[in-house]
Amino acid sequence: MTIDRVIKKFIDNNPTSDPEILRLAYDFAAEAHRGQFRKSGEPYIIHPLYVAYLLAEMKADLATITAGILHDVPEDTERTLEDLKKEFGTEVANLVKGITKLGKIKYRGLERYRENLKKMFLAMAMDVRVIFIKFCDRLHNMRTLDYLPEEKQQRIAKETLEIYAPIAGILGIWRLKWQLEDLCFKYLYPEEYHKLEYEYEVEQKAERNDFFNTIKKNITPILKDQKIQNEIEVRFKHLYSIYQKMKSKDRRFDEIYDVFALRIIVQDVNDCYKVLGIIHTIWKPRPNRFKDYIAVPKPNGYRSLHTTVFGPEGKPVEFQIRTKEMHEESIYGLAAHWHYKAKRQESTDHQPAWIKEIIDIQKEFSNTNDFVHKIQLDVFHNRIFVLSPKGDAIELPEGATTIDYAYAIHTKVGNSAVRAIVNEKICRLDQELKNSDVVEIITEKNKIHPNKDWLKFVKTKRARDAIKQHAKKSPFESIKKYIPGIRNK
Ligand code: MN
Repeated sequence: MTIDRVIKKFIDNNPTSDPEILRLAYDFAAEAHRGQFRKSGEPYIIHPLYVAYLLAEMKADLATITAGILHDVPEDTERTLEDLKKEFGTEVANLVKGITKLGKIKYRGLERYRENLKKMFLAMAMDVRVIFIKFCDRLHNMRTLDYLPEEKQQRIAKETLEIYAPIAGILGIWRLKWQLEDLCFKYLYPEEYHKLEYEYEVEQKAERNDFFNTIKKNITPILKDQKIQNEIEVRFKHLYSIYQKMKSKDRRFDEIYDVFALRIIVQDVNDCYKVLGIIHTIWKPRPNRFKDYIAVPKPNGYRSLHTTVFGPEGKPVEFQIRTKEMHEESIYGLAAHWHYKAKRQESTDHQPAWIKEIIDIQKEFSNTNDFVHKIQLDVFHNRIFVLSPKGDAIELPEGATTIDYAYAIHTKVGNSAVRAIVNEKICRLDQELKNSDVVEIITEKNKIHPNKDWLKFVKTKRARDAIKQHAKKSPFESIKKYIPGIRNK
């Protein structure tokens, strides 16, 4: 991978933009990472370049690709976020900051799955582009997983399969989801993976190609006659989804007929339905296998017509019919959406509700702080997420203080809290927390009772209840009823 390839890819999608900043970022990152190497033995800079390239492929904007090149600089080199801000401006620095923060979140098994999802959303609320950089970072790390010790391979593959791949699905970035899943599959179930791969790549390849050529020969002349401009591509289901299907339906590989699909990409929605009609006149449709995701898109915004017909030799074949725009969206998800948005205003009706909300809000606010605040209110319903120094995300109501956080961790931590450190700075216990603050509570072993004054500022029921309860139990509380004059105060 070279910076020239990254720049070329970017120019392909943005012919009028000036890519100079990419070269500057490269010089900066290459210098910062000088002398560092990946486990593969390659110079470290190859990794961020790959990430930037993947981002350019997804048609990310200039700031995102720049941040991709710089994404490991603050964490792994002498250069700081401040340096990045000076050299490349606030937008790029903030994206890198988001990545660095996301990197601090640790994975601790399936039971934290939901929590981790939330963490990703938290990052997204700050800027969705952060998630795209993180995904590309993960994809390249998965592709170079061979060089890590086996234990680490397993952990990373599991984390990717349980967290990253589903989120890619939620965001509608199918290509990324498939790539990640197949890579995970290879590391988590090597035997099954290699068996399927062999059947798929070796045993059935020639036969399969013949079959699809026959279909193409049948349909292409008719489409030409009808003057329907089209591209046809053969789409294979990715190995992991075949494996899952075989497992859930207890079938053999050659019994899974919708492993392959023919994708027909046309100019407009009208042509989609025309092509559907043509297919159904050539081959008999299988009952109950027609889905109109154009009229009724999937919840994640996916649009296409799907139909399965009895093709040549009576073998079932799935067709997916869609416009070019739908096609790009299905590959790049939200990223494609931005690309189109930049080109022209278009309806966002087929986006999932919460993504639509985020996009709408993002449009409304140019100022990032306002944006984050609005997201808090509208999407997260007045909840904030703060992080423990170990990377656990703690959900709190807006306005919560360090004491609420302490009690959210554990009653003991709350009771014995004496000081709080927020984002590496010592602060007051009544300090209000903001989204993505990193909070640490200093406790004192001998202090086992909370301060009643805390009731004046805590926001959570949990903290309030605990403080009241312990205040009752305090020796002073229990003796004061015997002290005349205090009791009725
Ligand atoms: Mn990285």
